[in-house]
Amino acid sequence: MSEESYLFYQSRNPRPFLDRGEGIYLFDESGKRYIDGSSGAMVSNIGHSNPRVLEKIKAQMDRATFGYRLHFRTHPSEDLAAKTVAMTPDGLDRVFFVSGGSEAVESAVKLARQYALTQGQSDRYKVISRFPSYHGCTFGALDLTGYDPLREPFAPMLEGMPKIAAPATYLDRDNLSEEARGLKYAELLRDKILAEGPDSVLAFLMEPVGGASTGALVAPDSYYGRIREICDEFGVLLIYDEVMTGAGRTGKFLAAEHWGITPDIVVLSKGFGAGYVPLGAVVAGKRLVEPILDAGGFAHGFTYAGNPLACAAGLAVLEELEDQNLIANAATMGVVLMDELRALMDRYPFIGDVRGKGLLTAFELVSDRDTMEPLEPRLNAYDRLVELAYERGLIIYSRRTRGGTAGDHFLIAPPLIITEAQIAELMSILRDSLDAFAAEVGL
Ligand code: PLP
Repeated sequence: MSEESYLFYQSRNPRPFLDRGEGIYLFDESGKRYIDGSSGAMVSNIGHSNPRVLEKIKAQMDRATFGYRLHFRTHPSEDLAAKTVAMTPDGLDRVFFVSGGSEAVESAVKLARQYALTQGQSDRYKVISRFPSYHGCTFGALDLTGYDPLREPFAPMLEGMPKIAAPATYLDRDNLSEEARGLKYAELLRDKILAEGPDSVLAFLMEPVGGASTGALVAPDSYYGRIREICDEFGVLLIYDEVMTGAGRTGKFLAAEHWGITPDIVVLSKGFGAGYVPLGAVVAGKRLVEPILDAGGFAHGFTYAGNPLACAAGLAVLEELEDQNLIANAATMGVVLMDELRALMDRYPFIGDVRGKGLLTAFELVSDRDTMEPLEPRLNAYDRLVELAYERGLIIYSRRTRGGTAGDHFLIAPPLIITEAQIAELMSILRDSLDAFAAEVGL
C-alpha cells in the first residue's frame, strides 16, 4: 500500500488504518485498541459490529440492496417507518427517509415550507435558529448553523437566516434563578419573531441538547415549554434537530421526551443508523404531511432515500435498542458518567463546567472557573487533549464552543452499551490524559 493518500477531508489524515470494531472498542491495524469514547461523531450508539445487526443486513443484501422508492414499496422502509412512529411521541406519525443529518435538516425545512404554502402562507420563509449551533454543512443547513469557522468561507453565499443566542446559562453571571434564565433565553425567540415580522417566520430550529457546537448544552427546564408556547402563539413550526440526541442517546428515544414536548418536526440521523449504514429521517405529524400530499406531493427527494438496505439496517438498530434495553442503560450509565466527570472538577481546576444528558456529556476547559475565561488559544487545548487521549487508547471529540471562536470543550459520548466497568476504564485513561495535558502546558 503506497504511503500517499489520494483522499482529502478537512485536513491531511495522519491516523492509523482502522482494522475492526467490537462493542465499544476499535482496533487499528497494529492491533492497538481504542475505547470509542465519542461513538465516532456520536454515531455508534449500539456499539461496533453487533452480530445480530450484521446478520439482518446480510439477509437483506441477499434479497435486494436497492429498489427505487418510486418503483416499489419495500418492507424494510415501511417497517422502519412504523417502528420509528411507535417509538416517538404521539402526533409524530409520518416519516421521510434520507441518508444523513444535513439532508434531514434540509428536508425538514422544505417540508415546513411546503406545508405553509398549503395554508396560504407564502410569506413565511425565515427559519430562526441559535448561535452557536450545528445543523449540517450543505448550504441550507449551513445557513441555519451558528458556527463561525464553518460559515465564514461561504458567508457571501448564505442568505443569513436569523439567529438567537443559545441558552448558555453556565456563562451567565446574573442573579437570576435557572428557571428565570431559561425564560429569559426563550423570550429571545419571541423578540426575534416580532422583529422579523411574525408572518415571515416559518420555523424555529433547535438542538434540544446542544451537540458539537455547544458541548452537550442543556437549557433550564423552563426554556423548553416556553419555546413551544411562543411557536404556537405565532404559528411558527418547531423543528427539533435530534440528529445527535435522538435514538436513545440522552436516555429517552427523543430528547424532547425529557420535557414532554412534541415538536412539529423532528430530524434524526447519526445513532438512527448507528454507523451501520448512512441513514437519517424526518418525522412529522400527518397534520403537516397530508395537505402536502393532497396538493400534489412533496417537491423533494434523494435517490437513496428509503433504500431497503439502509432501512433494514435501521430497523435492526432500533430492535437492538429495545431488545438490549439500551435507552434505559443510557440513562443509568449517563448518571454514572456524569458523576465521574463532575468529580474531575475537584482534581483539575481548569475544568470550568461539566454538563449533558444521558450519554451525551461534555466538559469545558477554562483558565478561570469563576469568570469562565477560556484557555489561551495558543494552548490548542482542544487538539492536544484529544491527541493525548488518542495516544493512550481513548477517542474523545472536541470543538471550540462560543461560536467556534473560543472555549475548548470535549464530548464524552460512548456507545449506549457501555458498562460501569468500562466507564471506569474510560475515566482512568481520561485522567491520565488530563494529567499529561496539565504537565505539558503547565496548568
Ligand atoms: N445536526 C446535528 C445536530 C448534528 O450534530 C449534525 C452532525 O454533526 C448534523 C445535523 C449534520 O449531520 P451530517 O453530518 O450527517 O450531515
